[in-house]
Amino acid sequence: MPQQGVIGLIGGMSWESSAEYYRIINQAIRKRLGGSHSARCLMWSFDFGEIEALQHAGRWDDATRLMIEAAQRLERGGADFFLLCTNTMHRMADQVAAAVRIPLLHIADPTAERIRVAGIERVGLLGTAFTMEHDFYKGRLQRQFGLDVVVPEADDRALVHRVIYHELVQSRIEPSSRAAFAAVITRLVERGADAIILGCTEIMLLVRPEDSPVPLFDTTRLHAEAAVDRALAGNSEPAPK
Ligand code: GLU
Repeated sequence: MPQQGVIGLIGGMSWESSAEYYRIINQAIRKRLGGSHSARCLMWSFDFGEIEALQHAGRWDDATRLMIEAAQRLERGGADFFLLCTNTMHRMADQVAAAVRIPLLHIADPTAERIRVAGIERVGLLGTAFTMEHDFYKGRLQRQFGLDVVVPEADDRALVHRVIYHELVQSRIEPSSRAAFAAVITRLVERGADAIILGCTEIMLLVRPEDSPVPLFDTTRLHAEAAVDRALAGNSEPAPK
């Protein structure tokens, strides 16, 4: 039997994107191991209404405590490593990682590595206002990976944030918002972005490759696939043809 590590997922932020993680992880395991194989994983799934209220009230210490409790649940449950299935909550990634013995697979890292491999240096970043405006995410891309990160202008940032919280995390996919995101992407490309990071795990539900003139780097897919790589690391069995 092939060896699989147990993937821990802190999800529900939102469940719409966690469902994509679950699908991508299982599809990737199936592709690699074939047959009826599927992923060994655990998910702790939050009530996002509770988390969103803390974010918008600026109660980041309370949110950090909840993220730490979730990571500890996954550790107790037997996860070998864990993912925070949201870009925004990487704001407290260091504190969460420090509170458990199992390692955190940071969402920015597989994304940035793939961008570097593609030879791209200047990237546009779409995400929540928290992700686009604070240093925890952009700073990691800049300092650890040498990327030049461009974020939308204020009006466009407000639009992207509003669509995430008022539509995407409520299962609403609106063609008018897709067109608005395409226009935001065009403005980032005009400012020199050679690629766009979908730095919020729901944006892939709205924006498709054909909505952008430059490559899209989808953090949901890249993070989920990196989890599978890690879960199968050390597995000597070749994938079935
Ligand atoms: N899933 C989103 C992200 O990747 C937003 C939801 C949240 O604030 O956690 O940032």
